[in-house]
Amino acid sequence: KMQNETLLSVENLSVSFDGFKAVDNLSFQLAKGEIRVIIGPNGAGKTTVLDLICGRTKATSGSIQFEGRELTRLKEYDIVRAGVGRKFQTPSVYEDLTVFENLEISYPSGRSVFEALFFKIDKKIINRIKEISEMIFLYNHLDRKAADLSHGQKQWLEIGMLLIQDPALLMLDEPVAGMTVNERVRTAELLQRIIQSRSVLVIEHDMGFVEKIAHRVTVLHQGRIISDGSMEHVKNDPKVVEVYLGH
Ligand code: ADP
Repeated sequence: KMQNETLLSVENLSVSFDGFKAVDNLSFQLAKGEIRVIIGPNGAGKTTVLDLICGRTKATSGSIQFEGRELTRLKEYDIVRAGVGRKFQTPSVYEDLTVFENLEISYPSGRSVFEALFFKIDKKIINRIKEISEMIFLYNHLDRKAADLSHGQKQWLEIGMLLIQDPALLMLDEPVAGMTVNERVRTAELLQRIIQSRSVLVIEHDMGFVEKIAHRVTVLHQGRIISDGSMEHVKNDPKVVEVYLGH
């Protein structure tokens, strides 16, 4: 169920590291409710694109429009507040806290971690935690320590910790790496739930998974888009075949 309204618009974005163009004049748009997957060989610039959008890396030139705001002028923290959530590849949950507590401290209430853990929380937050935990398949594990979760469950928990902040855009770096077959199936299901009200930008190497989830695939090579469109289109594009298979 795709809408055509644009959420994110990247225009002529470039960044150089010591004269090396890691991202080279990149332009693309992401629609509301869309799952876009960025693929490409190692060193293509995929991670750098996500770093630029979330403000970790500052662009050398170009623009990133998000819901009418120019992200290249904002600090990383303000980009989060503007509604961009970013998950890195390795799960970073609080191992000693329960699933419930991990979600609770991620709720953007303005309270400190200490306050969140030791003072009474209101019903609204509890309901939100329950709702998110259901979405990420952890409703029956709310009292478990994060340390006791499987790798896949930790990844879902971290996605939940982002969702509870209500981002309009969620960026995921290889979300199914290290997951079991069953966890991959459920992650695809989770993404379907997420895009009911948000957009998702994913870096992924698992082509079976890409085929399953992507509305549209963008292929990066040497910092540039070499192909873009449906999975069917890009996988039959001679330029993509050449990059992946050599000559
Ligand atoms: P990918 O995620 O597609 O594997 P990256 O975005 O990590 O590619 O990297 C693209 C290129 O930019 C690589 O050649 C990498 O070495 C370089 N690069 C990325 N970040 C930096 C940095 N902070 N400083 C210098 N070079 C970098």
